Amino acid sequence: TPITTIDADPAPRRRTVGVDVGGVTVGGGAPVVVQSMTNTDTADVDSTVAQVAALSRAGSEIVRITVDRDEAAAAVPRIRERLERLGMDVPLVGDFHYIGHKLLADHPACAEALAKYRINPGNVGFKDKRDKQFAAIVEMAIRHDKPVRIGVNWGSLDQELLTRLMDANNAQPAPRSARAVTREAIIQSALLSAELAEEIGLPKNRIILSAKVSQVQDLIAVYRDLSGRTDHALHLGLTEAGMGSKGIVASSAAMGILLQEGIGDTIRVSLTPEPGGDRTREVQVAQELLQTMGFRQFVPVVAACPGCGRTTSTVFQELAEKIQNDIRVNMPVWREKYPGVEALNVAVMGCIVNGPGESKHADIGISLPGTGETPAAPVFVDGAKVATLRGPTIAEDFQVMVADYIER
Ligand code: SF4
Repeated sequence: TPITTIDADPAPRRRTVGVDVGGVTVGGGAPVVVQSMTNTDTADVDSTVAQVAALSRAGSEIVRITVDRDEAAAAVPRIRERLERLGMDVPLVGDFHYIGHKLLADHPACAEALAKYRINPGNVGFKDKRDKQFAAIVEMAIRHDKPVRIGVNWGSLDQELLTRLMDANNAQPAPRSARAVTREAIIQSALLSAELAEEIGLPKNRIILSAKVSQVQDLIAVYRDLSGRTDHALHLGLTEAGMGSKGIVASSAAMGILLQEGIGDTIRVSLTPEPGGDRTREVQVAQELLQTMGFRQFVPVVAACPGCGRTTSTVFQELAEKIQNDIRVNMPVWREKYPGVEALNVAVMGCIVNGPGESKHADIGISLPGTGETPAAPVFVDGAKVATLRGPTIAEDFQVMVADYIER
C-alpha cells in the first residue's frame, strides 16, 4: 500500500513586494506580521499609551490608532514619545478617514511620528475632490518617507465605482450577482487606488493593500482574486468578525484558508471585546492562528486532552493550567535567556489511552492516571520515558521537570 502522497505543508507564500513599516517588514517573504488596533480615544494620551503598550507586550508587532480630528492628531507625537520613554518602539499606524489629508497637512509632527498611514479610498472624498484628497495623503507619505495601507472596506466602499460596475453588469446579457459585482468593486478600488498612488510617485514598496469584508466566503474569494492580480503586500482581516467564539472561528476559518494558500503578509483579528474586556485577546488569537498552522512560533504549546469519563478528577486540567500559567509568567525572561523556547511542546494528558503516545510526540509530556488506573504518572522527555511521578506532589514535580528541561 503506498504511503499517502498528500503534502502536509502549506502552499508556498505568494511573492509580494516587501514594505518597511517602522522597522517591521511586511511582505517580501518576511514572516507574517501580527497587528492590532486600539479602541481608546487617541486624544486621551494616557489611555492610548497604556493600550498600545499592552498590545505590544502581548505581541502586536504593529499597532494602529484612530486619527479622526485635530486633538487626536496633536496627541500622536506625545504618544510616540511616551512609548519611547517606556522603551517601546512598536510602529504606530494612523487610521485616517474623510479628513486625513487635512490632519496630516496641519499636524506635521503627527505625520512624522506615524510609521504608516491607512487611507480608506471609499471616504477620501467625492467626485473631483476624491482624487485630489487621496493625492494629498499620498504626497504627505512621499514627503515623510512613509508607507501607506490602502484599506478598502465593503462597509465604506467607493459608491461611484460600485454604481458604475453595477450599471455595466446590468447591461450584460447574463449579469453576475450583486455580491460578485461588489467583490469586484472592492478589488478594483484597491488596485485603482494603488495605481494612482504609484502614478503620484509612491513606490510599490511603500504600499500595502487590504480588502476587508465581513463574510468568510467573500473574504476568501476577494483575496484569492486580489492576490492573483497584484504583487502588492497584503494585509488580511475579516472586518466586523464579531464577539467571542464567533469572531474567533470566523477569522480563523477565513484567514486560515488564505494563509494555507500562501496569501497574506500581515493579519489582524478584529474581535469585538466584551464591554471592558481585554483588547489583547485579538493579538493572542492571531498568534495562536499563525502558530497552530506552523507559520510562526510565539509561545510554547501545551497539548492537553479534553478529558472524558476516564478522568473523574480535575487534576490534569489543573496541571495543564498551571503549566500554561508558568509559561505566561516566565516567557519574558525565558525568551531572553533561552532562545528558541517558543518551539517547546508540552503534553498534559488525562489517562493511558492517548497519554503516553501524545507525550512521546511532545518535547516533555506527562500522562496522569485516569480513574481506576495505578496512581502513577509516567513522564516522557524527547520521546523516552524518564520518570514515573507518584504521590500528592505530581503537579509540582512535573512543573520543576519542565523548568529543568527548558534550562537544559
Ligand atoms: Fe479521555 Fe484518556 Fe483520551 Fe484524555 S487521553 S480524552 S482521559 S481517553
